[in-house]
Amino acid sequence: MPRIHGQGLMKYVDRAATTVAGVAFDSIQFFNKYRPNPSFTPKWSDKPLLKSWQKTKPPLGWPRQTDSLCPLCVKEARASILSGEKDWKDLLTEKVGEIKATILERDGQIWMVKDCPIHGRFEDLMAVDSGFLAWIEKNFPGRDIRAHNDAHLHNHGSSTILHGRGSVRWFSNFMLGLAILKNYNASKAPKSLALIDLLKKFDKSFALSGEARTRKEYGASDPDRTLEDALKRRSDPWNLLFIAGMWFQDLFNSDFRRTEMCIIPYATQLGEISFCAYNTGIGWRKIIENMYKNATVAEWYKTHGKHEIYARGKEVRLASTQHSLLVDPLDAARVRRKEHDVPMTAAEEERARRKAAWEAQQAHQLYEELVLNKPKGKLVQIGSARPVEETEKVPV
Ligand SMILES: [Zn+2]
Repeated sequence: MPRIHGQGLMKYVDRAATTVAGVAFDSIQFFNKYRPNPSFTPKWSDKPLLKSWQKTKPPLGWPRQTDSLCPLCVKEARASILSGEKDWKDLLTEKVGEIKATILERDGQIWMVKDCPIHGRFEDLMAVDSGFLAWIEKNFPGRDIRAHNDAHLHNHGSSTILHGRGSVRWFSNFMLGLAILKNYNASKAPKSLALIDLLKKFDKSFALSGEARTRKEYGASDPDRTLEDALKRRSDPWNLLFIAGMWFQDLFNSDFRRTEMCIIPYATQLGEISFCAYNTGIGWRKIIENMYKNATVAEWYKTHGKHEIYARGKEVRLASTQHSLLVDPLDAARVRRKEHDVPMTAAEEERARRKAAWEAQQAHQLYEELVLNKPKGKLVQIGSARPVEETEKVPV
């Protein structure tokens, strides 16, 4: 429960505790650096993991140059690989579709700008607030251990993962506690949320004090929980919400400095491939799926048949349609308005979504033209090898 009495005093106690914790955290980090314990060598590695201060970073800040892709050259190259005209192994030795790109600041925003000698200029907005991106880059902990003994695992030309296996850095519970304390600001925290409440919160969520004790203290949360457990947990007015963000790339902002240190690889028949290089980038997914497919969709249907799809009011064939459900016709009539103003099928839902997106895009464009006086930009889409005509833009 929130503390009602002695809130002021609690804040003093909290402030003292966080100061001590901050000193302890920094000292441990300092002594680790000054006289470090030997690094841990996991089973999958021949070398020990890197300490935080041993980690390197790619060039950060702006303006900076990097290696990227031409969205249209990539599309053409991929098509010729899929048709068998071009050997996929060319990707290992040639820089297929690659162009240089500049990441720069413009009006407080960060943009990627690049020129293809064949397809012209591509510009893509990477961040709407350069200050925020600078803060994100400042907090980048550094690249993982350099990949080694991995010729069969990572061999994908420019898309090759060069750094480690994504050893997410875990603090011990003790260091995690100190880190929370160090960053807790008693004067900015809500009055009824003292430090002890916050620590209980973490204990409740992560069972820091042990599973059995947590169950007893805050009530169980597993499928066997009782009403008493649920009430116990709900008596706590604070909830812990964890927000995490992740930046995925597309062909317009593709950056090889990022794919080469990817920590979310796909396990494929051709080794581990960076998430972005697999799903976008040169598009390893399409190439590998094409190489290892055992049938085309048409062939599969021919040999295995096609199971029926019950959509657009098509009746489902059942042995019996008897049921014990009683439906009040008046209530049933109230479920949806008779006018057809809500999507009734997945297809209608998709159409409504595309219409809303198109309207929002139109409003945004009008705002840019009329309020910001920005010139009308030329739209280049991946799905087309030429600029899209005005009349083709309406997707509804
Ligand atoms: Zn190009």
